[in-house]
Amino acid sequence: MGPAKTSTTDHVGYEGALESEARIARLFEMTSDLLATISRDGRFTLLNPAWEQLLGWTREELLASSIEEFMHPEDVQQTLALLAAGDEPGAQLEHFTNRYRHRDGSWRWLMWSTRCDGDTWYAAAKDVTDRMWLERQALHDPLTRLPNRLLLMDRARQALARLHRSHGVVAMLFVDLDKFKAVNDNLGHDIGDQLLVGIAERLAELMRDSDTVARLGGDEFVILAEDIDSEEEAMALGRRVLDALEDPFPLGSNEVAMLASVGVAVSRDSNADPEAMLRESDVAMYRAKAAGGRRLKLFDESLRQELSTRMEIENRLRYALPRQELALAYQPIMPLAGGFAVGAEALVRWRPDGAELPAGAEMLPGMFLPRAQESELIVQIGNWVLHTACVQAEIWRRNGIAIPISVNVSARELTELDLAERVRAELAYSRLPGRALCLEVSEEAVLRDPERARSALKDLKRLGVSIALDNFGSGEFSLRLPRDFPLDILKLDRALVQSFDRDKERRAVFAATIALAKEARLTAVAVGIETNRQLALVRELDCSLGQGFLLHNPVAADQLRLRDAAGSVTSAPWRPLVRLGKGTRR
Ligand code: C2E
Ligand code: MG
Repeated sequence: MGPAKTSTTDHVGYEGALESEARIARLFEMTSDLLATISRDGRFTLLNPAWEQLLGWTREELLASSIEEFMHPEDVQQTLALLAAGDEPGAQLEHFTNRYRHRDGSWRWLMWSTRCDGDTWYAAAKDVTDRMWLERQALHDPLTRLPNRLLLMDRARQALARLHRSHGVVAMLFVDLDKFKAVNDNLGHDIGDQLLVGIAERLAELMRDSDTVARLGGDEFVILAEDIDSEEEAMALGRRVLDALEDPFPLGSNEVAMLASVGVAVSRDSNADPEAMLRESDVAMYRAKAAGGRRLKLFDESLRQELSTRMEIENRLRYALPRQELALAYQPIMPLAGGFAVGAEALVRWRPDGAELPAGAEMLPGMFLPRAQESELIVQIGNWVLHTACVQAEIWRRNGIAIPISVNVSARELTELDLAERVRAELAYSRLPGRALCLEVSEEAVLRDPERARSALKDLKRLGVSIALDNFGSGEFSLRLPRDFPLDILKLDRALVQSFDRDKERRAVFAATIALAKEARLTAVAVGIETNRQLALVRELDCSLGQGFLLHNPVAADQLRLRDAAGSVTSAPWRPLVRLGKGTRR
């Protein structure tokens, strides 16, 4: 077949224009594609029968009213604006979609190809309802039906691209609920889900149609707002979000008010990367949370510096193990009445090779473990810590120092992996008896998945390992916990111990916790004793073991020495260590 000819008369040959028109009319009647002409003020002027089949209305009905009558309310404004904008000759619209109502009340998605000629739009449309449904599923969160991350990023890209036409900014608000986990734990997942749906609705009500409210997962929501004038306006929107969430949500017989932390990032740059903006709003949100929650924080230059440090840490941390940049420091657990260490806690340290740190400086876990916890790295680091600590403890034992070693385990290690099996293998390798190892788990780790945590702890206990609940009293702790889980030691958090001298109420909490530990037959250890006054108060409140800079700093294995609580330095029991130091890794 030759190329299509463009002249109408050539094309129809000598059979004549009339016959050709009849044929075209027949095609028009037969095709299952939707064909129409539409006036620029939004009325159908001609329709083929396919419309009747697709929408269930007669053509007369469709022609009698404005197309607005049959269109989804959310699509009307944009469609009419597009139709009216067909000013330029040959204006054309491809792949434009909107929804029409079927006679039975359901909605059909149509995808249009149109061209404007004079006052008339010539249009062909296809029913893409099934495809749109599938796409919607892929782009929305099934619980709240809000756009998911993928759609959010797409909308953000479009909003940023439109920036060159306006003088405003695009704002991204990262909203993270402060105590959502407590709702899930205390009221159950169904109530938690209901609350998330309620929050999604409330956020959507607060926004304009052109804004996007998305759910990233868990208790994380992101708002994308366009047509915002300034940072100040974005911050005002953030404050409205905080206020709106604090209005209690009715949930069955309960009412729950949600506090949130909001991070705000704005951009004036139409080439900005939406992923980078999301990261920025995330970093600002973390800062708001770290400042105590129920707060709003704008991503600014100081945070930009923090973000680049954070990304550098992430990159370098991957090489920390293969390059042997990790080390363990040990901090003894001391009897407060004086005497020698009854245990030692292994604390991981990192000295990145080539990093611009002052001589002798090391990175503390707070600076890098949170990054590791976001990936599989935490498992590798955890394995290395466990292995190194067990080997060290066995070396001590062989030299007559039979103190148990304590190793911190992260939430992920406790609930997602077969921790007991890893510990069993490690004990076998280092030939350390189970009773010489104590694992410290945080309250947060236990509460993240209480059932799995309980079963993991039971398996560990069968190996003879003892379990300490770490950082007890740091947040809103549950008094049930020490009774409900198989524990041996309760470590009272530094924040609790250090708030003593100023705060009588905290002292009462401490005293109650010691009583609770006694009742549950747990050994209490007070962490973070820095001053003699704190030491005296802790002792007065009947706590007999402690850890703190006053008693002993965390140091490398070969620098461990003992100082009893009375203050005298004794090195005799630790002598073997000095010799050992040469053979042990720092
Ligand atoms: P933690 O388990 O509560 O460990 C005690 C922390 O308190 C240590 O901080 C220790 O240096 C510090 N500390 C002890 N006495 C005092 C004191 O008197 N004053 C003050 N201001 N601080 C004191 P560090 O080494 O920075 O560790 C922080 C946290 O990182 C640990 O808190 C623990 O939760 C976590 N961590 C440390 N090593 C590991 C590890 O190998 N694995 C895991 N998963 N977490 C670890
Ligand atoms: Mg600990």
